[in-house]
Amino acid sequence: MNNIFSDRISDVPKSFIREILKVAIDPSVISFAGGLPNRDLFPIAEIQKATQRVFETAGKESLQYSNSEGYLALRQYLVDRYQEKQGITFTTDNILITNGSQQGLDLLAKAFLNEGDDVIIEEPGYLGAIQAFSVYRSVFNPVPINEEGLDIEALKQVLKTKLPKLLYGVPNYQNPSGISYSKQNRRGIAEALASTTTLVIEDDPYGDLNFSGIRRPSFKTMIPEQSVLLGSFSKTIAPSFRIGWIIATDSIMEKLLVAKQASDLHTGYFVQRIIHEYLVHNDFDEHIKQIVKTYGSQCAAMIRSIQTYFPSTVGYTKPDGGMFLWATLPAGISSMALFDLAIKDKVAFVPGDPFYTNKKQTNTLRLNFSCVDEQTIDVGIERLGLAMKKLLE
Ligand code: PMP
Repeated sequence: MNNIFSDRISDVPKSFIREILKVAIDPSVISFAGGLPNRDLFPIAEIQKATQRVFETAGKESLQYSNSEGYLALRQYLVDRYQEKQGITFTTDNILITNGSQQGLDLLAKAFLNEGDDVIIEEPGYLGAIQAFSVYRSVFNPVPINEEGLDIEALKQVLKTKLPKLLYGVPNYQNPSGISYSKQNRRGIAEALASTTTLVIEDDPYGDLNFSGIRRPSFKTMIPEQSVLLGSFSKTIAPSFRIGWIIATDSIMEKLLVAKQASDLHTGYFVQRIIHEYLVHNDFDEHIKQIVKTYGSQCAAMIRSIQTYFPSTVGYTKPDGGMFLWATLPAGISSMALFDLAIKDKVAFVPGDPFYTNKKQTNTLRLNFSCVDEQTIDVGIERLGLAMKKLLE
């Protein structure tokens, strides 16, 4: 039969992580594979009250169609919050509410990428961005990340021969590695891009999940005209609402609005109202503190267990926030082979392969610490350490 589907969609593989999660669903498996926020921290009672108030104060209006930009009061809340917390200045005209930040990636790709356009992406990089950009048939130019952030020399090397339209990165507590770019590294990137037209897409869903209290500067404070900032309430309130946003200059916003209208007219208005109602009647910072406390302790517990149970030849990152930690097996040892052994011992993780745009049989793996309690982390890491020892013997 002829392929009735577009080349655009046929070339994009289905999500590898979904396949893994199917295996990890067995309740006897301890799973570090997921990427979910901890459901015990969802503010259920507060959301219930906020929903009731929306019905009482704006019932009929809240169920009607709305504008494409997003609920004005919610956009104003975000303008004020960025100003207060990070000294980032913009107006409500420069923010578009999206259906999660994942839609932000799709809209940006739709607005900027022709087939064959060059994009710079972190290696390893966020799978959802790889998928979103792949649909528009861009060419990936992976730039490795290290403990400091992007490898600036490798970045300069790409910029010598290519004219990438976009540089996509997650500078705070990156998915999958947990790494954050240092202040100096951000400056280095801004300088390397100064004489180019490459636009930085700064994806920041984890910025508030900050264990040490150190907040590093956004590209919006360094190269505001040459950067786009994405945010989301998925990790701080609840992912099911699908509320994210894009902050961009006027000329970019004009195109994003066209892309947004073509996609879905606007983001669910009712849920925007509920989120806004929740934000103005609750102490959001206190809620974030609770999440940070839990994830911070779980991350520390995972590091302690790794130090006890992993062979000393296995490397790992020490995240300062977010939900993920990244481990590196000795060179030449496949994390896919480790997965096969580990799953028999009832522990799961995500092997590194899907986070690379051009590598297979990698020796890296992602471990999630947001959804597993400290005791279970210890049991799971012990099992994983044993599987590693079997593989390395
Ligand atoms: N960017 C990154 C780096 C992520 O990790 C995620 C969620 N896994 C997203 C974007 C998408 O989040 P949202 O729920 O806001 O669409």
